[in-house]
Amino acid sequence: MNDLLRQLPQISKVIERFRGTAPENLIKKVARQVIEKYRREIKEGKRKSLEGLYPEIEREIEKLKKPRLRRVINATGIVINTNLGRSPLHPEALEAIKEVALGYSNLEYDLEKGTRGNRNAHIEEILCELTGSESAFVVNNNAGAVYLVLNTLALDREVVISRGELVEIGGSFRIPDIMSRSGSILREVGTTNKTRLKDYEEAIGENTALLMKVHRSNFYMEGFVEEVPIKELSKLAKEKGIPLYYDAGSGLIHDLKNYGLDEPSFSECLSQGADIVSGSGDKLLGGPQAGIILGKKELIERIKKNPMSRALRIDKLTLSALEATLRLYAEGRYSEIPALNMILQDEKTIKKRALKLKRKLSSLKEIEVSILKDRASPGGGSLPKLELPTYCVAITHPELSPDKLSELLRNSDPPLIGRVKEGKLLLDLRTVRDHEIDLIPRSISQALRDTTSSRTRSP
Ligand SMILES: *Cc1c(COP(=O)(O)O)cnc(C)c1O
Repeated sequence: MNDLLRQLPQISKVIERFRGTAPENLIKKVARQVIEKYRREIKEGKRKSLEGLYPEIEREIEKLKKPRLRRVINATGIVINTNLGRSPLHPEALEAIKEVALGYSNLEYDLEKGTRGNRNAHIEEILCELTGSESAFVVNNNAGAVYLVLNTLALDREVVISRGELVEIGGSFRIPDIMSRSGSILREVGTTNKTRLKDYEEAIGENTALLMKVHRSNFYMEGFVEEVPIKELSKLAKEKGIPLYYDAGSGLIHDLKNYGLDEPSFSECLSQGADIVSGSGDKLLGGPQAGIILGKKELIERIKKNPMSRALRIDKLTLSALEATLRLYAEGRYSEIPALNMILQDEKTIKKRALKLKRKLSSLKEIEVSILKDRASPGGGSLPKLELPTYCVAITHPELSPDKLSELLRNSDPPLIGRVKEGKLLLDLRTVRDHEIDLIPRSISQALRDTTSSRTRSP
């Protein structure tokens, strides 16, 4: 044992060996960590030779040289997956970003007049065209939009909202918290499962500034439930002279009811009488992260003038990608938008892709691969009820549990994220794009290579 400990290389030697492949302090850090790990394992009697030391250092250096934020392959079947970056962009949206990012742009410059322009102007017209809205304003994200709407229209005043809609959307975003931070006063009405028009009516008083309704984006209620539809609420709002704000969440531009997707589109919310509607750019809209605010001109003008709109303003790269995505809708090309394309694709297409992947994996002898038909929910932050038929490639390994397999693939290159079900690791082909299929065999074989070497190393 002492012999082995003495044979551990000095840090300076490791630095010498890897000089030029990475910054010296990075090599030093990795060398320290790996040598320390070997020292510990030798002392614990877990390691009988130094074999694999340098390859491990090399692998760790390569890992640290990679960007921390990087692509992964989403084989979870969840299309609008917030943890994995929500909606992928259409190539034309990326082109638009490149064009604007690599040089100067007319972001806030009016080319016709040669005077100062307005960044919102680039997008307002097309948003209004697509949704029938009078006016439009975009900010950094929908949480920002909710904040801005409340802070503008209901500062120090009451907002009437159903108890069934005081929702949490992913970790840090809770409607009651945003309301209180926005300076508005929460006036909750009804119960968790039932809220009637009368409840709103009775709550409206001198200090009421806004009626608010929130779409239940990530869950649904069934059974003994009742809520007031926008249309009825809007009648009451008009009667009382109070605006109605609907937080639609998912940002649907093109109605998908024909496809069985029961989500309210922007234009539907507006035509049913909401005075202000907001939603995200990177959920069902399929564009970049953004918060879209639509509705009555007079109200939107007030929102634009709120000094906080500067703090929440949209960045030029996002703006260019959003405009390009909206153009696809204007051209009737919504089914090309990746998020919608993945949700709308038919079973046959997915099955074909699953068979192709299975074929490509047949050369990997360590794993067993089969095709499995499953039902998956394509929505994470939206479409909570929707289940669509899908095809998966199911992987099992004689020695590795599905959870272990899933961990190894998560840490491979590129990281591959599947889901575990009934003792198998499933790769759902609904969310794997065509060009990603070729990357999967490499990712799996690399993950397995790492395990074989570590298993032979430590008996
Ligand atoms: C997703 C969502 C939000 C938050 O939108 P972000 O774009 O993530 O900030 C707010 N309200 C509802 C109803 C949502 O579904």
